[in-house]
Amino acid sequence: MAQQNLVVCSKCGGVNRLPLGRNAMEAKCGKCGNRLFSGQPEDVDTRVFDCQIARSSLPVVVDVWAPWCGPCKMMAPAYAAAANELEPHARLIKLNSDNEKAVAARLGIRSIPTMILFHGGREIARTSGAMTAGQIVRWVRDRLPTVAA
Ligand code: ZN
Repeated sequence: MAQQNLVVCSKCGGVNRLPLGRNAMEAKCGKCGNRLFSGQPEDVDTRVFDCQIARSSLPVVVDVWAPWCGPCKMMAPAYAAAANELEPHARLIKLNSDNEKAVAARLGIRSIPTMILFHGGREIARTSGAMTAGQIVRWVRDRLPTVAA
Protein backbone atom coordinates (compact mmCIF):
# COMPACT_ATOMS: atom_id res chain seq x y z
CA MET A 1 0.00 0.00 0.00
CA ALA A 2 1.29 3.42 -0.91
CA GLN A 3 2.38 5.63 1.91
CA GLN A 4 -0.35 8.05 2.86
CA ASN A 5 0.02 11.48 4.28
CA LEU A 6 -2.38 13.49 6.36
CA VAL A 7 -2.90 16.71 4.46
CA VAL A 8 -4.84 19.45 6.23
CA CYS A 9 -6.88 21.79 4.02
CA SER A 10 -5.82 25.41 4.57
CA LYS A 11 -9.31 26.66 3.71
CA CYS A 12 -11.48 24.58 6.04
CA GLY A 13 -9.12 22.59 8.27
CA GLY A 14 -10.40 19.27 6.91
CA VAL A 15 -7.95 16.36 7.26
CA ASN A 16 -7.40 14.39 4.04
CA ARG A 17 -5.52 11.13 3.49
CA LEU A 18 -3.40 11.49 0.39
CA PRO A 19 -0.57 9.61 -1.28
CA LEU A 20 1.97 12.27 -2.23
CA GLY A 21 3.08 12.35 -5.83
CA ARG A 22 2.43 14.13 -9.03
CA ASN A 23 -1.34 14.02 -8.47
CA ALA A 24 -1.23 15.68 -5.07
CA MET A 25 -1.26 19.16 -6.61
CA GLU A 26 -4.58 18.31 -8.31
CA ALA A 27 -6.20 16.78 -5.25
CA LYS A 28 -9.24 18.40 -3.72
CA CYS A 29 -10.36 18.57 -0.12
CA GLY A 30 -12.97 15.94 0.70
CA LYS A 31 -14.74 18.40 2.99
CA CYS A 32 -14.89 21.73 1.12
CA GLY A 33 -13.90 20.76 -2.44
CA ASN A 34 -11.08 23.32 -2.75
CA ARG A 35 -7.66 22.32 -3.99
CA LEU A 36 -5.42 21.10 -1.17
CA PHE A 37 -2.45 22.88 -2.75
CA SER A 38 -3.42 26.08 -4.53
CA GLY A 39 0.11 27.40 -5.03
CA GLN A 40 -0.92 30.43 -3.00
CA PRO A 41 -0.21 30.25 0.76
CA GLU A 42 -3.48 30.76 2.62
CA ASP A 43 -4.01 33.10 5.54
CA VAL A 44 -5.36 30.85 8.26
CA ASP A 45 -7.35 31.52 11.40
CA THR A 46 -6.64 30.06 14.82
CA ARG A 47 -8.70 26.91 14.26
CA VAL A 48 -7.09 26.00 10.94
CA PHE A 49 -3.63 26.95 12.24
CA ASP A 50 -3.98 24.62 15.23
CA CYS A 51 -5.28 21.85 12.98
CA GLN A 52 -2.35 22.25 10.56
CA ILE A 53 0.17 22.01 13.38
CA ALA A 54 -1.53 19.16 15.22
CA ARG A 55 -2.76 16.96 12.37
CA SER A 56 -0.58 17.49 9.28
CA SER A 57 1.97 14.78 8.62
CA LEU A 58 3.77 17.24 6.36
CA PRO A 59 6.16 19.84 7.69
CA VAL A 60 4.32 23.14 8.13
CA VAL A 61 5.90 26.54 7.55
CA VAL A 62 4.03 29.57 8.87
CA ASP A 63 4.81 33.14 7.85
CA VAL A 64 3.66 35.51 10.58
CA TRP A 65 2.97 38.90 9.04
CA ALA A 66 0.82 42.05 9.29
CA PRO A 67 -0.69 44.35 6.67
CA TRP A 68 1.25 47.42 7.94
CA CYS A 69 4.63 45.67 7.72
CA GLY A 70 6.58 46.73 4.61
CA PRO A 71 9.14 43.88 4.65
CA CYS A 72 6.25 41.39 5.10
CA LYS A 73 4.54 42.67 1.94
CA MET A 74 7.84 42.61 0.09
CA MET A 75 8.36 38.98 1.06
CA ALA A 76 4.86 37.82 0.05
CA PRO A 77 5.71 37.00 -3.61
CA ALA A 78 8.88 35.21 -2.50
CA TYR A 79 6.90 33.18 0.01
CA ALA A 80 4.37 32.21 -2.69
CA ALA A 81 7.22 31.20 -5.01
CA ALA A 82 8.73 29.09 -2.21
CA ALA A 83 5.34 27.39 -1.73
CA ASN A 84 5.34 26.45 -5.40
CA GLU A 85 8.73 24.77 -4.93
CA LEU A 86 8.11 23.07 -1.60
CA GLU A 87 4.50 21.90 -1.91
CA PRO A 88 3.23 19.19 -1.76
CA HIS A 89 6.18 18.03 0.38
CA ALA A 90 5.63 20.79 2.90
CA ARG A 91 2.65 22.98 3.72
CA LEU A 92 3.10 26.77 3.67
CA ILE A 93 0.58 28.98 5.43
CA LYS A 94 0.35 32.57 6.60
CA LEU A 95 -0.85 34.02 9.86
CA ASN A 96 -1.97 37.64 10.06
CA SER A 97 -0.78 38.69 13.52
CA ASP A 98 -3.28 41.59 13.62
CA ASN A 99 -6.23 39.24 13.13
CA GLU A 100 -4.87 36.36 15.22
CA LYS A 101 -3.29 38.18 18.15
CA ALA A 102 -3.74 35.32 20.61
CA VAL A 103 -1.84 32.86 18.39
CA ALA A 104 0.93 35.41 17.74
CA ALA A 105 1.26 35.89 21.51
CA ARG A 106 1.26 32.14 22.13
CA LEU A 107 4.05 31.76 19.55
CA GLY A 108 6.04 34.52 21.26
CA ILE A 109 6.36 36.58 18.09
CA ARG A 110 8.61 39.60 18.74
CA SER A 111 9.17 40.89 15.24
CA ILE A 112 7.72 40.30 11.80
CA PRO A 113 8.05 38.79 9.37
CA THR A 114 8.87 35.65 11.36
CA MET A 115 8.80 32.19 9.80
CA ILE A 116 8.39 29.12 11.97
CA LEU A 117 8.89 25.54 10.79
CA PHE A 118 6.85 22.84 12.50
CA HIS A 119 6.94 19.07 12.10
CA GLY A 120 5.02 16.48 14.06
CA GLY A 121 3.41 19.21 16.15
CA ARG A 122 6.73 20.60 17.34
CA GLU A 123 8.63 23.75 16.43
CA ILE A 124 11.81 22.83 14.54
CA ALA A 125 13.18 26.29 13.77
CA ARG A 126 12.30 29.94 13.39
CA THR A 127 13.81 32.92 11.66
CA SER A 128 12.96 36.61 11.45
CA GLY A 129 13.40 39.07 8.60
CA ALA A 130 12.48 39.03 4.94
CA MET A 131 14.04 36.37 2.72
CA THR A 132 14.11 35.60 -0.99
CA ALA A 133 12.31 32.53 -2.38
CA GLY A 134 15.64 30.70 -2.74
CA GLN A 135 16.60 31.48 0.85
CA ILE A 136 13.24 30.27 2.16
CA VAL A 137 13.49 26.99 0.21
CA ARG A 138 17.06 26.43 1.41
CA TRP A 139 16.15 27.31 4.99
CA VAL A 140 13.45 24.59 5.00
CA ARG A 141 15.46 21.94 3.16
CA ASP A 142 18.56 22.46 5.32
CA ARG A 143 16.48 21.61 8.36
CA LEU A 144 14.31 18.88 6.83
CA PRO A 145 16.21 16.99 4.14
CA THR A 146 13.11 14.86 3.58
CA VAL A 147 11.43 17.83 1.88
CA ALA A 148 12.36 16.66 -1.58
CA ALA A 149 12.85 18.73 -4.68
ZN1 ZN B 1 -11.22 22.00 2.78
